[in-house]
Amino acid sequence: MLNIARLNSAPEIFYSLQGEGTRCGIPAVFLRLAGCNLACKWCDTKHSWGNGILCSTRDVAAHIEDYHCASLVITGGEPLMQQAPLEKLLSLLPDSLHVEVETNGTLVPTPALTRRINQWNISPKLLHSGNLPQKSHNPEALAFFASLPHAWFKFVVQSEQDWESIAALGLPQERILLMPCATTRAALEAARPAVVDMCLRHGVRLGDRLHLTLWDDKKGV
Ligand code: SF4
Repeated sequence: MLNIARLNSAPEIFYSLQGEGTRCGIPAVFLRLAGCNLACKWCDTKHSWGNGILCSTRDVAAHIEDYHCASLVITGGEPLMQQAPLEKLLSLLPDSLHVEVETNGTLVPTPALTRRINQWNISPKLLHSGNLPQKSHNPEALAFFASLPHAWFKFVVQSEQDWESIAALGLPQERILLMPCATTRAALEAARPAVVDMCLRHGVRLGDRLHLTLWDDKKGV
């Protein structure tokens, strides 16, 4: 069984455009799992923290296939808290389906998931998230993800001071993206120019938040 985030009394599975990361703009089915091992102050999916809706992997696979979409994005919450049912789900879906996982990078994936996932989007949390570093940073997990060529690191940043914390992690710079800290379209527009400057200063990629530009803070889109 998968514990799926509850949105408007239904499990949160929806069809949209990938709004973040290197595949931004690509149509995908989104599966949002319930539960997270962190509690970020500015989390835009706090509704996923509590109990979700338990669904059989077979029903979830059928629901995903109904969209006839080439991409699946598994997000949360923290999806790697449910690795065994995720393995089962993916075994029921075609190998040709492109699967991305959005994770906070605190948990090491199983070998079976590592083999199946086409792209990892890791978003390690910095001090301004309000989490204790001993909770939000797992050096073993980050080193593991850094060793995978298809893992990208997206950092929510608030100020230039964040760069020191990012650089100290020693991640591959060509796979780092900086994202403005924002949960609304207006906040994104206000925060973006400083992040653009940071990207130019440090030679790293901008990670925009297309879903906010398109749909503001509406959920389930
Ligand atoms: S890790 Fe992600 S889902 Fe969990 S609290 Fe932080 S922003 Fe929210």
